[in-house]
Amino acid sequence: MQIRGRVLGEDRASTVEVQDGKIRRIDRSRPAEGALGDESLVIAPAFIDVQVNGVAGRNVNTANVTAEEIAAIPPHLHGSGTTMFCPTLTTGSAEQMTRSLKAIAEACRDPKMAHAIPGIHVEGPYISSEDGPRGAHVLQYVRDPDWDEFRRFQEAAEGRIKILTLAPERDGAIPFIEKVAQSGVIVSLGHTGAQPAHIEAAVKAGARMSTHLGNAAHAQLPRHPNYIWEQLAKDELWMGFIADGHHLPPAVVKCFVRAKGLERSVLVSDAVSLAGMPPGRYAGEAIFGLGDPREVDVSPEGKISLAGTPYLAGAGLLIHRCVQNIPRFCGLPLSDAIRMASHNPARLLGIQDQAGSVEVGRSADLTLLRWDVDQKTLKVEATLVQGEVVYKAER
Ligand SMILES: [Zn+2]
Repeated sequence: MQIRGRVLGEDRASTVEVQDGKIRRIDRSRPAEGALGDESLVIAPAFIDVQVNGVAGRNVNTANVTAEEIAAIPPHLHGSGTTMFCPTLTTGSAEQMTRSLKAIAEACRDPKMAHAIPGIHVEGPYISSEDGPRGAHVLQYVRDPDWDEFRRFQEAAEGRIKILTLAPERDGAIPFIEKVAQSGVIVSLGHTGAQPAHIEAAVKAGARMSTHLGNAAHAQLPRHPNYIWEQLAKDELWMGFIADGHHLPPAVVKCFVRAKGLERSVLVSDAVSLAGMPPGRYAGEAIFGLGDPREVDVSPEGKISLAGTPYLAGAGLLIHRCVQNIPRFCGLPLSDAIRMASHNPARLLGIQDQAGSVEVGRSADLTLLRWDVDQKTLKVEATLVQGEVVYKAER
């Protein structure tokens, strides 16, 4: 199969040849007959989203989650150019979290799902109990770090947990971070009200990332020091951030990206099951699980908040919308924005030899994009997984 377009970062069109699921050749001279795409399109590595709770009514955290439910998620991400994602568990009972982990592990016995899921992100339950930092996580199940419980989680997940988000100020968190980091899992700081000393100690213990930096925070903070500045200044910490236009104002996105630099910035959607659903008020069960009495509002712009509060309950836009916002908010070229959603998450997860760039030998996980440089609008025209077209925009 052949794909025609401008490889990301290049001015001239190329023909990308795909065979056996991999990029076999990139021909910079020859136009191709019958190729997918054309010279007006950008050929980019498909996006890798390390924080996805659900989409289009499918939910990683629901009580009746099954392997089939997990397997139904990827097709809803393909339209955003995303081919790999980390299903993201939020705080729940040990039983609920174990059920979700087992369902994901079972889904991954299908090689296609194992390809789509480079790792699981467990967000909680070892997070802050305070309103604000806790965000929409259920207070009842928030708890102190427990190594034995985490090992049981990892066992249920058949070793697939790759990212753990926690609050380093919880009792026992620092020695716990050391063990988790040594086991090869990326420890990410999030849903935290940490003091600077906690952040310092967490980084020394091996924490490597901040989860949706600037969100799940107190509505008001001391101007300095505070946990946002401290994390921004720590070069050891990569930054996961949500540039959907609702979670962080454009000026904050710009400052964050400048502080962290292009190499350590990772766009995430944090999409929840109501992402892609029509605007309106919904039962919170759709996001938080059966029996949760809270309600959630979905705005026409895709903002999802706890009804009657200023607290966001997750995100309603997928990662291509965050990619589109980076040139708008930061004045950076599209290639830099895409790097934050493909190459950087691949590097974070340690799969950069397989995915995250358009290079010979990499998996043919590609997305064909139409980029209007004046309007700064991005449209996903097609998406391929291992060389197979899984999404094509309607004409
Ligand atoms: Zn969160």
